[in-house]
Amino acid sequence: MTLNGIWTIDNKKDVKLLRKKVADFDFKKYSRKDIQELLKKMREAMKKANGVGLSANQIGLDLKVFIAQVEGKFYAVFNPGLTKVSEEKLGMEEGCLSVPEIFGSVERPARVTLEGWDKNGKKLKIKAWGLLARVFQHEVDHLNGGIFIDKATDLHRYEKTEEHKNKET
Ligand SMILES: [Zn+2]
Repeated sequence: MTLNGIWTIDNKKDVKLLRKKVADFDFKKYSRKDIQELLKKMREAMKKANGVGLSANQIGLDLKVFIAQVEGKFYAVFNPGLTKVSEEKLGMEEGCLSVPEIFGSVERPARVTLEGWDKNGKKLKIKAWGLLARVFQHEVDHLNGGIFIDKATDLHRYEKTEEHKNKET
């Protein structure tokens, strides 16, 4: 775990959960207040770590939910899945809060449709492109036990800089 409370692949216990397909989120088991508290905890962790996205398993929770903050907009998606991906692919540099200081180029579909549920258990469908599409795919991978280094080429180490700060998810 890092100082910010983010679980990382450097730690054996952490990596076990990061590599697991997490459990579906069961809305019946949680009150509205529980959900608010969960999202608050995730949001604080992401903010502290200067991330643009965070999955629940990155802070040690075996729950299928992620959050993202992209271009000023906040997203919280429960039980997400990609229902459409474009044939067109783009390579872009990615980093991950759970893989400190490592970056690499990942090729992914340029546009995706993400479906899931919002915090009130209402169905969500979001069409995304650009950075948002990338973050959605990175987080869905996390919830399935995937980490960007599995797909990345050109992995390299970087000290944290302004340029990279906002790419980690
Ligand atoms: Zn990540």
